[in-house]
Amino acid sequence: MKVLRIPAGIYAANCYLIYSEESKEGIVIDPGGDVDDIVAQIEKLGLDIKYIILTHGHADHIAGVEELRDYTKAPVAVHKDDEYLLKDGDSNFSNHMAMGTVEFEADILLNDGDIIDFGGLTAEIIHTPGHTPGGISIKIGNNIFTGDTLFAGSIGRTDFPRSSYKDIIRSIKERIIIYPDDTIVYPGHGPSSTIGTEKESNPFIK
Ligand SMILES: [Zn+2]
Ligand SMILES: [Zn+2]
Repeated sequence: MKVLRIPAGIYAANCYLIYSEESKEGIVIDPGGDVDDIVAQIEKLGLDIKYIILTHGHADHIAGVEELRDYTKAPVAVHKDDEYLLKDGDSNFSNHMAMGTVEFEADILLNDGDIIDFGGLTAEIIHTPGHTPGGISIKIGNNIFTGDTLFAGSIGRTDFPRSSYKDIIRSIKERIIIYPDDTIVYPGHGPSSTIGTEKESNPFIK
């Protein structure tokens, strides 16, 4: 499998393009904007995008969804507890951000433990609430995409309505850092890391 990080949108949330080199099938995680850049990569690589998966419903991660869905015809998946964020520009903060109101409906509502197959790869949905109620991490092989739950050396904000510091710490400790030390962490902002590095040096989980 291949992972391509495309910092997208004015807030530079990490959009990830994950695909199989053999089957040319892939998924997009968190298209937060700059859909032209995302589409250019899809076309260059000749990919067939099977799903658009959202780690959570905040505007900086979802602002490009409708445009990308129009182009790829791929269904949009979000955890059921974050569905409300997609439908409400106040709750997802887009009403107060430069991109303007972002409101749309998901095609698939996810639950913890759901499996999404594409191109010979398997994505496992891990419910990791705290930053938002329906935040997820997505595990594909030796890689985990952690959204705004776990960053390299930091964690997501929990000062929003319906955020919970207690929940995010529990999500990270009980559902993310349980994987082998060499598991690669791909966060929603900033550079990648590994589970081993975060266990050793992240001040929030030491
Ligand atoms: Zn967020
Ligand atoms: Zn974010």
